[in-house]
Amino acid sequence: MDLNRWSGVIAEYRERLPVGPDTPIVTLLEGGTPLLEAPALSELVGRDVYLKLEGSNPTGSFKDRGMTLAVSKALEDGATAVACASTGNTSASAAAYAARAGIAAIVILPAGMVAGGKLAQAIVHGATIVPIDGSFDDALSLVLELTATHDAALVNSINPYRIDGQQTAAWEVMDVLGESPAVHALPVGNAGNITAYWKGYTAVEAAPQMWGFQAAGAAPIVHGAIVDDPETIATAIRIGNPASWDGATAARDASGGRIEVVTDEEILDTYRFLATAEGVFCEPASAAAVAGVLKHRDALPPGPVVCTLTGHGLKDPETAVTTGQLGEPVAPRLDAVLERLEL
Ligand SMILES: *Cc1c(COP(=O)(O)O)cnc(C)c1O
Repeated sequence: MDLNRWSGVIAEYRERLPVGPDTPIVTLLEGGTPLLEAPALSELVGRDVYLKLEGSNPTGSFKDRGMTLAVSKALEDGATAVACASTGNTSASAAAYAARAGIAAIVILPAGMVAGGKLAQAIVHGATIVPIDGSFDDALSLVLELTATHDAALVNSINPYRIDGQQTAAWEVMDVLGESPAVHALPVGNAGNITAYWKGYTAVEAAPQMWGFQAAGAAPIVHGAIVDDPETIATAIRIGNPASWDGATAARDASGGRIEVVTDEEILDTYRFLATAEGVFCEPASAAAVAGVLKHRDALPPGPVVCTLTGHGLKDPETAVTTGQLGEPVAPRLDAVLERLEL
């Protein structure tokens, strides 16, 4: 019996991806993620809403879809190391796929601004990590210089293979829904993913409106200007100068969509709503897409809505724990427990 009926995004969509018979495929069986109906959300917005659960990927975010292709192509080209700048998930994914490929991973990240789960992954998979006293945007400039002058393949989403691999999420939506969604919503950081989804949809002649959402303190595309000190609780989209800026505006304009802001408060409210009303735990950045759909529900065209939940909630346990209050422990007696329960 073949329990692994899913064989990873490259094998599943090989004919649409830039691989040849001799490309060594580095896969952790990424992709094939659930498209989950969201009844509570559907009720609120008056449309059928589906959640694309990208936290179900091997390292817990959508980054694996592009990383399988980027690392496979790097290996095909003879690379012995990959390098990236990261707000966290890219480094977690690069570290895992490099380990799988038997090559080195170099990670440059903004010190103190990476969620605990993501940092744990990069450490455990054996990446060489250089924290810098600077922002993600500084880290990206450094890694561009590093890979231009040293023997390491760049695996940030400026690498076109990352975008190519990430298209597979749009193809899965089409395969499962059997029709184009009316709207596809997602958070926008470096804007690689919105660029990739739009490329993927157009390749199969689908045309949902692309709705992208940035955090209010990190919204360069919405305001049309670089943000020097981006600030938001949603660390995965804390980016002031997106690498795929043009891709995002092209996706918005060609699809008749929109890119708007959501506040940290709206993000956290939605994060809790998804966890308590839908049973889905995503990271704060992921909730931005759903927060945006809720905020702009009056502008939804008829037809199904898909929201990508980009990463798993366990990536960022700090946010989860600090948004709840446990209170002081009570005595280990039933009467004390009942008192706390007000029963
Ligand atoms: C990388 C990431 C984003 C942002 O994606 P971009 O392609 O940079 O726009 C959003 N959410 C999570 C969880 C991510 O890891």
